Amino acid sequence: MSETKVHDVVIVGSGPAGYTAAIYAARAQLNPVMYEGSVTAGGALMNTTEVENFPGFENAIMGPDLMDAMRKQAARFGTQIITDDIVEMKLDGEVKTLKDGSGNTLLARSVILATGSAYKEIGIENEKRLSGRGVSWCATCDGFFFRGQEIAVVGGGDSAMEEANFLTRFATKVVLIHRRDSLRASKIMAKRAQANPKIEFLFNTEVIDVLGAEKVSGLKLRNTVSGAESVRDFTGLFVAIGHLPRSELVLGQITTNSEGYVEVDGQSTRTNLKGVFACGDLVDHTYRQAITAAGSGCQAALDAEKFLAGH
Ligand code: NAP
Repeated sequence: MSETKVHDVVIVGSGPAGYTAAIYAARAQLNPVMYEGSVTAGGALMNTTEVENFPGFENAIMGPDLMDAMRKQAARFGTQIITDDIVEMKLDGEVKTLKDGSGNTLLARSVILATGSAYKEIGIENEKRLSGRGVSWCATCDGFFFRGQEIAVVGGGDSAMEEANFLTRFATKVVLIHRRDSLRASKIMAKRAQANPKIEFLFNTEVIDVLGAEKVSGLKLRNTVSGAESVRDFTGLFVAIGHLPRSELVLGQITTNSEGYVEVDGQSTRTNLKGVFACGDLVDHTYRQAITAAGSGCQAALDAEKFLAGH
């Protein structure tokens, strides 16, 4: 279906940035249309457990509950939320054209990009082949399948600490494999993992192959200092080594940095294209918190409102 109506704002992507942009745009009477994604609606927080640092929740809130509340808040003010993906965008010119996964075409005066980021892969042999057969990027989704087993987590940041801690609910032992000798994680998260008797730390170690015919049976490891290689038995591998921006749809149209993060003008959310704004993890390679994403979603809606008022 091709629409002839030109929407004021179309928001692409959900999560704290997208939902907050929708709340602000809807309250500003801009009648936003939001494509929340067909599979990834709610974004990264849908795969987390307790969020302890989002202000306003003294006793923490579960990530999916926080996203559900934001979504309902956006809907309450009239956001039209569509559970589908935008698969193509033409963002130059006064009227932007967007195509969704069901073949519909939309027109918009302004577009807010909030497509977030995707899990990073190690990029080693057999990682992809054994994905879903012992290799996972989501402890909350798959942890349950590893009850009573010995599993590995790769990474040294907050995500790895969080995943490792969570997995000790199921696993007999979690071995945290990190390529350096010191953690990148925040002190509180690192301390919590270090105090967990079920977590063993393997520093200066990288995973160079995932072993197993039908499912994961072990990992090939290399000591990053001595170069010595070894094999250790595991039935699961959780990869928690950060994220990459989901900017593939706009590459070539919008200015990005060398890692693919969308570049914005100063402290605003304005991209190089007039009427196109970007927020959340798609832009932010520094802070990447739910609260900073929500803040930038608010900015994007205010920037779009100002842009539309000038036309
Ligand atoms: P991150 O902070 O970028 O850490 C990624 C980790 O993976 C680093 O330790 C890095 O090693 C390692 N790594 C990267 N590429 C690798 C590769 N190819 N092979 C092996 N190891 C690799 O990412 P994150 O942990 O996902 O955290 C992202 C942001 O979200 C942070 O700002 C974090 O604070 C936030 N976060 C917060 C919470 C919370 O507060 N509850 C939970 C999760 C995430 P190096 O250290 O050697 O670079």
